[in-house]
Amino acid sequence: MRDALKFQDELKRDAVDYAMRLNEPARRESLKWLVNFKTKIGLFSQCPRCAGTYSQQSNLEPTGHGTEKMDTFKCRVCGLEKAHVFPR
Ligand SMILES: [Zn+2]
Repeated sequence: MRDALKFQDELKRDAVDYAMRLNEPARRESLKWLVNFKTKIGLFSQCPRCAGTYSQQSNLEPTGHGTEKMDTFKCRVCGLEKAHVFPR
């Protein structure tokens, strides 16, 4: 449970990083939108790149290639691949 929360924090941080790469005024608009960004909807974690860059909620879908050390996800909208590495 704690790990899950940490991964959601990471997604939020990543989304802000993507937003910071935008030029004004898109950056400001994106950061405003991110205040209400949900890092998880239902069973699906949300794509930080779609959120930060496009102000859009997109599901990160499990790739099925995870290992015992990590889960891997891919966004079907922008193609971002994201790994959730389990803490030891
Ligand atoms: Zn995406």
